[in-house]
Amino acid sequence: MDLRITEIFLSIQGESTHAGRPCSFVRLTGCPMRCVWCDSAYTFTGGERFSFEDILAKLKEFGCNLVEITGGDPLAQKSVFPFISLLCDLGYEVLIETGGFFSTEKVDERAKIILDVKCPASGESERNYWANLERLRADKDEVKFVITDLNDWGFAKEIIEKYHLETCAKEILISPIFGVENLAEIAETVSRSGLKVRLNLQLHKYIWGANVHGV
Ligand code: SF4
Repeated sequence: MDLRITEIFLSIQGESTHAGRPCSFVRLTGCPMRCVWCDSAYTFTGGERFSFEDILAKLKEFGCNLVEITGGDPLAQKSVFPFISLLCDLGYEVLIETGGFFSTEKVDERAKIILDVKCPASGESERNYWANLERLRADKDEVKFVITDLNDWGFAKEIIEKYHLETCAKEILISPIFGVENLAEIAETVSRSGLKVRLNLQLHKYIWGANVHGV
């Protein structure tokens, strides 16, 4: 079996509660969404087919037990599901970063999901697949809201309350886009909310610059 891949690389996990940990990234090609602030548009087309064996060989070379499958949207390719299970069988700690359009139902239960909920300024909030929120596991899954302004934050708060995310998810990540002008105002607003959330800054961009793509 194989997967269409844009890149495989070793870096530091830049987001979520795993931020700062060395991590291998497998970035799959393709995504049906078109978020206006997307920093991974180069994954929409192209890529190269890699057999499972070739991907595993690369990961072995990196020697890192934490692996994130990202994209694009990694769940756009059906063969990702057996690949995730294979990684889990081999003892890897597996993170899945998904855009929230595809169902997470077939993801191996041993993998940890970081599920995006698209806010209005993304232009794609109508396409969130809400059933995914009902499948979250409180001991391992995280929900991420990328926000560009306080209107997005208001939307995030509504969804957090409506789906009881403070109890259903391990962590709720509030992720202002890199370079947002009113970051301090957003941070202060989040801190006063009384909600069990975490401000999530993209660590890799602070290290390597704004042009480093999302993970
Ligand atoms: S879901 Fe992710 S990869 Fe797809 S357009 Fe949105 S930000 Fe980009």
